[in-house]
Amino acid sequence: MDSEMSHVTKDVVRIGATEILVVQGDLTTYRADCIVNAANGELNHRYGLAAAIVNAEGVEIAEECTDYVRQHGRLYRGQVYVSEPGNLHCKKLIHAVAPRWREGSMQEENCLREAIHESLLAAEQLGLASIAFPALSAGICKFPIEVCAKIIVTTVAEYIGDNTPHLHTVSLVNTADDVVDAFREQLSAYKVQGSGINAKPECDYWKLCHRFFKALGIKDVVVDNKFNICYCSTCHAARKEKDYYTRGNPPKTYGIPVGWSRIGLQ
Ligand SMILES: [Zn+2]
Repeated sequence: MDSEMSHVTKDVVRIGATEILVVQGDLTTYRADCIVNAANGELNHRYGLAAAIVNAEGVEIAEECTDYVRQHGRLYRGQVYVSEPGNLHCKKLIHAVAPRWREGSMQEENCLREAIHESLLAAEQLGLASIAFPALSAGICKFPIEVCAKIIVTTVAEYIGDNTPHLHTVSLVNTADDVVDAFREQLSAYKVQGSGINAKPECDYWKLCHRFFKALGIKDVVVDNKFNICYCSTCHAARKEKDYYTRGNPPKTYGIPVGWSRIGLQ
């Protein structure tokens, strides 16, 4: 069953050549090059999201993980293991050992940061273009949702850019309203003029483009404002973007075209 329609992008923020998306929907049916699974150190996937991901996708993932732990021992908090994806809509499944909340007394916040960081690093080293995270450590690991969202968003936002020539999309995926809202709240700190769901680029170039667009008589219903972004030289400079970025394997250098704006369509 294709349930792509059930994934709703609630917010987009662009940092360098990489976009961070907040998506409301089911991670187990989400399409990305890699999906991050909230794992425990034994990789036994008995509870929560891990159980949903692994059990839905047959025994191969479970066997691969069990073999790995048998040979290498259990993983520490914050460590990751990359497995094949079973039948998930991704190329790799990244099992990140999610720390449990201990009132902040056991370095668990640093461990969560580590888990996010290691997941991004693994995806980048594999040359993958997109990664999708759950609210790692929320739910059964009991992190307060605001703490969890803040660590995930800040770790992603600080890491992407220069470190991620391959990764161009990082999705934060959850079904629950309060988790999606917490991600959006944290992401708002990284919004700059001319991006995001309530994008209202205010430069003269944008206003001109917008007037032209209106003059075409296209109905508002087809517009999706969260994908609006202005690439005029002023907005481009305001986002501190580089003029070139490197992407692909083997790496190629691309110029970011400046001097246009995007009005998002549904
Ligand atoms: Zn502009």
